[in-house]
Amino acid sequence: MKISQRVHCRSCVRFVLAAFVFLVCAISISAADQTVVLKAARMFDGKSKALVQNGVVIVQGDKIVDAGSNVAIPAGAQVIDLGDMTLSPGFMDAHTHLTLDFTGNFNEKRLKEFQTNVSEMALMAITYARATLEAGFTTVRDLGSRFAGSPEFVDVALRNAINHGITPGPHMLVATKGIGATGGHFDSTGGYRDKLFGREPDPSEGIADGPDEIRKAVRFEVKNGANVIKAAVSGGVLSLADEVDTPQFTPAEMAALVDESHRLRKKVAVHCHGDQAAREAIEAGVDSIEHGSFMKPETLQLMKTKGTYLVPTLMATEYIMSKIDSYPLALQAKAKAAGAARSEMFRNAVKMGVKIALGTDAGVFPHGDNAKEFALMVGLGMQPIDALRSGTSNDADLFGIAQAVGTLEKGKRADIVAMPGDPTADITATERVSFVMKEGKIIRNGPATPRTAAVPDDDVDLPAD
Ligand SMILES: [Zn+2]
Repeated sequence: MKISQRVHCRSCVRFVLAAFVFLVCAISISAADQTVVLKAARMFDGKSKALVQNGVVIVQGDKIVDAGSNVAIPAGAQVIDLGDMTLSPGFMDAHTHLTLDFTGNFNEKRLKEFQTNVSEMALMAITYARATLEAGFTTVRDLGSRFAGSPEFVDVALRNAINHGITPGPHMLVATKGIGATGGHFDSTGGYRDKLFGREPDPSEGIADGPDEIRKAVRFEVKNGANVIKAAVSGGVLSLADEVDTPQFTPAEMAALVDESHRLRKKVAVHCHGDQAAREAIEAGVDSIEHGSFMKPETLQLMKTKGTYLVPTLMATEYIMSKIDSYPLALQAKAKAAGAARSEMFRNAVKMGVKIALGTDAGVFPHGDNAKEFALMVGLGMQPIDALRSGTSNDADLFGIAQAVGTLEKGKRADIVAMPGDPTADITATERVSFVMKEGKIIRNGPATPRTAAVPDDDVDLPAD
């Protein structure tokens, strides 16, 4: 090669390098500085008692830089005019099971759990996470992911995969396996013959008896990635070896559960239908009561005084009741008792001003149908605007992340949804979200990804015999 050619080549390389550096800088500057303006006929800011007209939210990168009525639009911004829609902070669900497969048939589900490899369940969970996000739920608290006989932490894996941008889904705060007593609602060996699984489950599977074992279980779950601690302190509907409302932890066990979790800066959510267990759990200082079906007015008053959240999961009972014939007789009786009690409990909680955070128990019903909880809450006496707050800023407060999300305000994460019409006039508008933005990225502006067979659009066909 001649010297002149070499010089020529070197300057070529320099030019290409310079152009490349310029391009990379330009791309990163434009990604960080790209201003996107969302406009809609109305806006719910996540905290106010009324919608504002002519809502405008200005997004830069992954943050909201301004929001309000008729906010001035910066020059050069990309404007997305959503027309006759209502902007809202991304919805939140305080009670999901994103790694659990849905089916309306209890025995079919139990059998499937034995037949399906846990890795396969994890792959299926990817579709559940996507369906949940596309339905407008940008953050969920995922309260329990256990697979009998498996040490896997599928919820932790799913949360991390979503955080790393590997697969779309909501922000997840996960509880891993949950903690419960021997023979209680979380003991997945309950209802089978003794020793079928070879041994009794232990604290590493979330089954713990006595304050020390409970502390060990909390530490084990936090060690393995839990963001929140979930425990079953009373019986449940979908478990065979217990009564639905009996207490399953003693006050001393509940005190240990709350103390150990709070020392590790984790909130405590307890599955609880029974009144006595709820009272003892509230006194022990839990952060939320999940379900709460049989809670009496005095217990609700105690919740109000202590500032404990109620997460009503009305969708779970609603769905089970609609499929009641497909559950074993013992569970039918429990579901009917809980279903009959919960409506009055919820009406009382609303009247008394107990703090309520929207949570559904998705996984008991098809993932992606979470927004139906809004209409159920309104149907039982909650004002539509309060239902919207319950599924946004109240959840953020309960999760301990209100400084980052839950309202449309300067500095908050750009997790934003839009739904047609006015949700305070027709709350079912929340079920028709067609625009979803998460961390400033548009997830959906139009039809959702068709649900796969694993996420049925409609009711599951029950076996003929
Ligand atoms: Zn649940």
